[in-house]
Amino acid sequence: MKTRIGILGYGNLGRGIESAIRQSEDLELVAVFTRRDPKTVKIHTEQVPVVALSEALDWKDKIDVMVLCGGSATDLPTQTPEYARHFTVINSFDTHAKIPAHFEEVDRAAKESGHLAIISLGWDPGLFSLNRMMSTAILPQGKNYTFWGKGVSQGHSDAVRRIAGVLDARQYTIPVDSAMTRIRGGEQPAFTAREMHKREVFVVAVEGADRAVIEAEIKNMPNYFADYDTEVHFITADEMREKHAELPHGGFVIRSGVTGFDGGHRELIEYSVKLDSNPEFTGAVLAAYARAAHRLAAEGQQGCKTIFDIAPAYLSPLSAEDLRAQLL
Ligand code: NDP
Repeated sequence: MKTRIGILGYGNLGRGIESAIRQSEDLELVAVFTRRDPKTVKIHTEQVPVVALSEALDWKDKIDVMVLCGGSATDLPTQTPEYARHFTVINSFDTHAKIPAHFEEVDRAAKESGHLAIISLGWDPGLFSLNRMMSTAILPQGKNYTFWGKGVSQGHSDAVRRIAGVLDARQYTIPVDSAMTRIRGGEQPAFTAREMHKREVFVVAVEGADRAVIEAEIKNMPNYFADYDTEVHFITADEMREKHAELPHGGFVIRSGVTGFDGGHRELIEYSVKLDSNPEFTGAVLAAYARAAHRLAAEGQQGCKTIFDIAPAYLSPLSAEDLRAQLL
């Protein structure tokens, strides 16, 4: 019997998990739910219905796992506790500072209704969190470093788009090579934000707009750019379409630690991802955890969990015997 999946919210990530489900024989997409008029939302899987979100509860018995694909800023904080009352749910909530409060809210809703929820899945938070946690447990004497990029940051791109005179913008976050070289060499420096990442922005400006003013406003924007070295390039709308339409991303989690009686041996753990498509990869992670969520819910698990709580074998379609024979 396949795991029957519903997608709630159909943006980049919704499309990403739809494509990931197609690559897994034991997963089946049952319906896509949207707040928009379903007739206006075209999905790739023709035989699957697009349903108004207001009708979602009619699907309670037809869906094993509801994958919540809304935005972290305003959708997931309300949708996750709401739908955890009716379904097994998973999400990719990525506002790190708010994860503990989000966990408490979802945990309450899931426990009150006897459901299971897994939050903050993806690559960061998600696979990177797992690697930070494991390498910190293994090398207690050491330091963690996380680098992001090269890749598009949607949040920074949106922030630039809100500046007067900007028609469109794409922001790339880029790790500083010299910082990574020092860590890989065994050093444990205390870096500033500027020493670890730089930012590159491509802007399509309104005709006649003052480019120097736009550039200064970007470079001085607090929280987003002021603490980084930022390059700004003005390009045409055609160039933006041709060269910057994709959503690549990636990153590195590195723990530099020491072992031995006198701490004299250096040990380095490094995990990285290099992604042509951030939403498709994040969707692939969600697909594997949807499989896990279905199995754990079937075992009677309830309440909210994070990636730290899920044993790895639950992610795999392979049996325990096959896993031992093929991948151990
Ligand atoms: P989008 O902005 O593409 O989609 C968010 C929601 O907006 C959708 O669920 C959809 O809801 C609505 N929407 C989408 N397209 C349109 C449209 N054309 N018009 C009106 N509404 C639309 O966000 P993403 O899919 O790119 O990202 C979702 C979240 O995933 C991000 O906020 C981020 O936090 C998280 N994420 C987490 C990662 C991780 O590693 N943990 C990695 C990548 C992303 P509806 O169908 O109901 O209208």
